[in-house]
Amino acid sequence: MKDNERKEWLAKEPLFQQVMDMKEVLWRNPSIEPVNQAMEKTRLTQEDVDDARQRLERFAPYLEKVFPDTAVNQGIIESPLTSIPAMKQMLEQQYKLKIPGKLLLKQDNALPISGSIKARGGIYEVLKHAETLALEHQLVNDTQDYLQFAEPAFKNLFAQHKIAVGSTGNLGLSIGIMSAKLGFTVTVHMSADAKQWKKDLLRSKGVQVVEYEDDYSKAVEEGRRQAQEDPSCHFVDDENSTDLFMGYAVAGERVAAQLKALRIKVDQEHPLFVYLPCGVGGGPGGVAFGLKLALGDHVHCFFAEPTHSPCMMLGMMTGLHDRVSVADFHLDNKTAADGLAVGTASAFVGKTMEPFLAGCYSVADRTLFTLLKELADSEDIWLEPSALAGMTGPVKSIESRIQGADLAKAVHLVWGTGGNMVPEEEMRSYYEQAGK
Ligand SMILES: *Cc1c(COP(=O)(O)O)cnc(C)c1O
Repeated sequence: MKDNERKEWLAKEPLFQQVMDMKEVLWRNPSIEPVNQAMEKTRLTQEDVDDARQRLERFAPYLEKVFPDTAVNQGIIESPLTSIPAMKQMLEQQYKLKIPGKLLLKQDNALPISGSIKARGGIYEVLKHAETLALEHQLVNDTQDYLQFAEPAFKNLFAQHKIAVGSTGNLGLSIGIMSAKLGFTVTVHMSADAKQWKKDLLRSKGVQVVEYEDDYSKAVEEGRRQAQEDPSCHFVDDENSTDLFMGYAVAGERVAAQLKALRIKVDQEHPLFVYLPCGVGGGPGGVAFGLKLALGDHVHCFFAEPTHSPCMMLGMMTGLHDRVSVADFHLDNKTAADGLAVGTASAFVGKTMEPFLAGCYSVADRTLFTLLKELADSEDIWLEPSALAGMTGPVKSIESRIQGADLAKAVHLVWGTGGNMVPEEEMRSYYEQAGK
């Protein structure tokens, strides 16, 4: 972006200056529309979500067998929805305001197999690819369930095929672990900010890890290029994949069912606010899309990003999506929230979400560490820094009187996107960074 273009944006909208100054800001999306109108603007449909849900159900017996930690849910990869009243008190004290209504945490930190939200989209895409190959090779026997995917004939087929992905870490973990289990040859292209323990863990599972000096975009670009040269290689494209998006979207109806079980209504009088940490956008975008389909106009979804990497906010504010990067606004994309260290958002997700999203807000790294400690102290729940970006959402929406609405009966749902795979000593060092 040229200097004069940036100056034009700054003159048009004062919020850009605050973003450049790395203030914690909230942007409301002026393009949001009622769900039925918004659906007319996308090629994605309810049928796509149904198809993804059914595929995950077909694979459930297989997952239950090969990943015993999925057995509690009969092979369905799902996480608890937990009320966190002690954390709510912490937030009220810290920010000196009252949060009416309930505060809930969606515990994707506890998702089986890979301990983050990536266990939704990432694993789904690998399973779909495996199914497609097996059908093409007429290997699937209609009379048997998908336990057959653990048989040697399937492993032999997949061994001749490759899967590749570019990742800041967690997507690599989910793609790597699932692909290796099915028998694929799998390569993960890791950005410089990816943690050493993630690389070590993947290598221990037979995954090939390629390291880059550069950031996420570079790792993806290189991975994509190498995969294109090899017809036997399937590249999981975090920036453009409909399959990933749909794997995430299945969460929407599952959360709707969990809310119902907790007897929590979502309607005009009882709005639901959902706060989703956002990197490239596929995870939060898919989940928000699924939530809007399942719950309608009274669920309000926000994306949360680090103040150093608000790529989706800038992409949506300017309407330029992947044609603008945080560097264009002189931000360095350096954050301890490694899952969110993305300088350019997905244009596919940004455009799709334009009529669905309530807004975006940003969070400083030091806030993430403070919240990490507070959640551990108050609820004994341990999230990785990225996963706490959603936690200031209730404060942000109350402070900015979102909707101008009476929030007395609102429910706030924070999406806790990851944590359980983080080694204990790593987690302790996060905890100790609070207040520094
Ligand atoms: C990947 C990730 C996100 C964001 O998902 P995107 O699809 O990159 O937007 C949020 N939190 C954690 C812990 C993640 O690993």
